[in-house]
Amino acid sequence: MNIIRFILLILMVWILWQFYQRWHKIKKQQKDNNSALPSKIMVSCHHCNLYLPEEEAFCDGDLYFCCKKHLLANKSANKSANK
Ligand SMILES: [Zn+2]
Repeated sequence: MNIIRFILLILMVWILWQFYQRWHKIKKQQKDNNSALPSKIMVSCHHCNLYLPEEEAFCDGDLYFCCKKHLLANKSANKSANK
């Protein structure tokens, strides 16, 4: 009878060890996934309010634009306003 208890104890320890390893692996994967995602700063186009990542936006001073067309539209609007 003692040998059966011993085997059961070994089996339980083994099962717990397997659970621990799986949990540890999942935790590690979550940590890797979080660090792999680059933190993108979102900016809105001054002309049409479209949101886009800062590195894809066209910049004019502290204003951001979604495309060159909107950047030029803002520049020409400023020129005509200054006249
Ligand atoms: Zn735009």
